[in-house]
Amino acid sequence: MKDLKEYLAVPFVDLNTQYESVKDEMDAAIKSVFTEMTFIGGRFVQQFEQDFANAYGVKHVISCGNGTDSLYIILKMLGIGPGDEVMTASNSWISSSETITQTGARVVFVDVHPEYYSLDETQLKQKLTSRTKAVVAVHLQGQVCEMDSISSFCQSHSLHLIEDCAQSHFSEYKGTKAGLFGVASSFSFYPGKNLGAYGDAGCMITNDDALAVKLRMYARHGALKKHEHQIEGVNSRMDTLQAVVLSVKLRHIDKWTSQRIAHADLYNELLHEVSEIILPRVRPHTQHTYHLYVIRCKDRTRLAEYLRERGIETSVHYPTALPNLKAYQYLNHSPDDFPVATCLQDEILSLPMFPELTEEQIQYTACCIKRFYQKK
Ligand SMILES: *Cc1c(COP(=O)(O)O)cnc(C)c1O
Repeated sequence: MKDLKEYLAVPFVDLNTQYESVKDEMDAAIKSVFTEMTFIGGRFVQQFEQDFANAYGVKHVISCGNGTDSLYIILKMLGIGPGDEVMTASNSWISSSETITQTGARVVFVDVHPEYYSLDETQLKQKLTSRTKAVVAVHLQGQVCEMDSISSFCQSHSLHLIEDCAQSHFSEYKGTKAGLFGVASSFSFYPGKNLGAYGDAGCMITNDDALAVKLRMYARHGALKKHEHQIEGVNSRMDTLQAVVLSVKLRHIDKWTSQRIAHADLYNELLHEVSEIILPRVRPHTQHTYHLYVIRCKDRTRLAEYLRERGIETSVHYPTALPNLKAYQYLNHSPDDFPVATCLQDEILSLPMFPELTEEQIQYTACCIKRFYQKK
């Protein structure tokens, strides 16, 4: 290995370098919004919906305020509510579960897969009851769940399959993109996501014409035309500024996804002989898009501190498995009910990952990790 610096700043995510790389395009797009002075709705939002529909190969894209709203609106418009149960993964961001509760339904947590860390398809059956109405499959970290099993499970029990794609833009399973397996799927465009806006934004996608109408109506106060409120809804809209930012970024997403994959490959190559850590495994026949590059490691707190002192920012997604959070105390679970998620919460560490990460930054990070374990 070549000579390594004593100190190199490696941010966890670097949005500025990406902005600099598309500055001219981005500044022009943002200026065009100011020229028109239309900040809510309008042709730019329609254009982004069209652009994303084309890129994704889906019939309907309904933009909304954020990824959390998109999940809630889908669940609500599928008629999920009090008396129903909805299953979701025990390791995710709380949006995946809190939106289930918001509809009045009960969230049923399912443990995660010991190798791939996303919803464990083999655990669905034992959680099924006569009240189960839907499964929210979360493609965590950019890794798609085992969709053959999950789809057929949902089909055979007449359950709605909803995909939380907040971390899996353009991930694939057997050649099909994440988000195209279920009845409808939700996306977040939070700035740090693989396709990120410059503020909050999200969308829903579906190939179901009737559902698409409902989703749009509910997100716009229950009205498809101004003042014609057919139902009560919510206010969840994508700002015009976010729409143009996303349309610009969408033109570059393939390159950025490839860069993430190349970075993961390099991390794997440099770290594979470190016996104290387990590298992320890719589910066969899938394309992992590495929203996060997550290792399992020994002595996580001290490793993270060691890296931080050397300029390397890491993070944990997530430090407490959902069922172990205070918010879910009322479900009376014990950590042993979710052995995999509970074990992961103390061992996982997300290393810096973003398209503009340099080879030098990856080498430096890997080298510091090796030094940490050699010292001990
Ligand atoms: C980011 C995220 C969300 C929520 O998205 P917001 O746009 O922040 O509301 C939902 N689910 C998962 C898995 C996420 O990572």
